[in-house]
Amino acid sequence: MRGVWYAVVLTTGGYCAPGNPVLAAAAPAGLAGLPSTNAPLASGDGVRLAARLGAGTVDMDALQVHPTGFVPLGDAPPAGEGAAAAAVAPPPPPTVFLAPEALRGCGGVLLDAAGGRFVNELDARDVVTAAMTAAAAGGGGGDGRRRVFLVLSAAAVGAFGEATAAFYAARGLMARIPPPSAAADGGGGGVLAALDARVGLPAAAVAATLAAYARSVGGVADGTSKKVFPQAVSYELERLEREGLWVAAVTPALHYSMGGLTFSASAEVLSAATAKPIRRLYAAGEVTGGLFGGNRLGGCSLLDCAVSVSALSARSSSRYSEREVSTRYGSRRSLVVRSSSMVPINDDSRGRVNRGADAEYSEALTPATQPCAAASS
Ligand SMILES: Cc1cc2nc3c(=O)[nH]c(=O)nc-3n(C[C@H](O)[C@H](O)[C@H](O)COP(=O)(O)OP(=O)(O)OC[C@H]3O[C@@H](n4cnc5c(N)ncnc54)[C@H](O)[C@@H]3O)c2cc1C
Repeated sequence: MRGVWYAVVLTTGGYCAPGNPVLAAAAPAGLAGLPSTNAPLASGDGVRLAARLGAGTVDMDALQVHPTGFVPLGDAPPAGEGAAAAAVAPPPPPTVFLAPEALRGCGGVLLDAAGGRFVNELDARDVVTAAMTAAAAGGGGGDGRRRVFLVLSAAAVGAFGEATAAFYAARGLMARIPPPSAAADGGGGGVLAALDARVGLPAAAVAATLAAYARSVGGVADGTSKKVFPQAVSYELERLEREGLWVAAVTPALHYSMGGLTFSASAEVLSAATAKPIRRLYAAGEVTGGLFGGNRLGGCSLLDCAVSVSALSARSSSRYSEREVSTRYGSRRSLVVRSSSMVPINDDSRGRVNRGADAEYSEALTPATQPCAAASS
């Protein structure tokens, strides 16, 4: 790293971006080929940088897989070629759009390629992922592409937000199957036949599955452990025919790296050799490891920030930046390594706000001084 920095806070995020060397070294065999919901910026640079300084890492193989990344549906196949077209659907791209949990939370139903349900859609991420992987690998009539289908009634999409669903549809990630009378081709067999034609889901099997799902609202066992049935009644065939439905193809995708740099209660990065703090090197956020153990609860990234960003690393680093230090750029600097800092560096003893961290950062990270190329998002 060029320049002399009195304290460095690494906030470079995780390492789930496809194809980066940290991920390649850490990922267990079964996860190596998965697509990722992460942008290229999650490249593991902070881990690599700190490792060069002797930093320790923990739980590097603990990677959270999100069950539902969107697989683009592609163009609608020619009439009558739904199943054939689905069978040759391309594999997911390396980076996929996240299909949010809310799609299932609002009543979305997961179907394998044979049109059957195979899991409680509201179960934990790892449980749903394991069931999807088994279903897509052949068990339950999958098609071997790690891809299953997410089907939503119009009411489920209404609860989720039709505008957002329309956004996904505009990007080719979801498709609305309109009621037959409104279909451009005039229908020809009902809404489930139209679904079959679009993605190759067998209409008769889907009809039976959704009928059972609609009945499950009354407590009839549905073959999964699902106990809460959002919008189940809206899957009654007569209602689907009247209101249409929506469909997406989804696949498990790498989402979050629980592993990362070992750090102290003051967010100091710890040495691999001695487990003692590496002087003036701090880390915060997803670049750190060990906070969540083997599995992060979804939506808990704020914990990373609450634990390590504002409470600890900013304070600790400002303790150093308080002192007069000579650097090639002047004096009293803390460097927050990220491209857009949200970390105000506070004087921990008196609560004064130090000179703006953002301004300081952008001043510091000129192309000539930037330690690693900023990964663009
Ligand atoms: C699609 C998606 C949805 C998510 N939804 C949620 C959610 O609902 N709730 C939740 O709690 N969590 C969610 N997460 C996880 C959460 O977004 C991340 O854990 C969190 O953003 C990590 O914050 P961070 O500040 O550590 O790193 P990031 O937000 O990843 O920021 C790292 C920054 O460092 C920069 N950087 C990296 N390398 C370098 C370098 N070499 N030089 C300079 N700059 C560099 C990057 O460009 C980036 O700006 C989601 C993640 C994804 C991918």
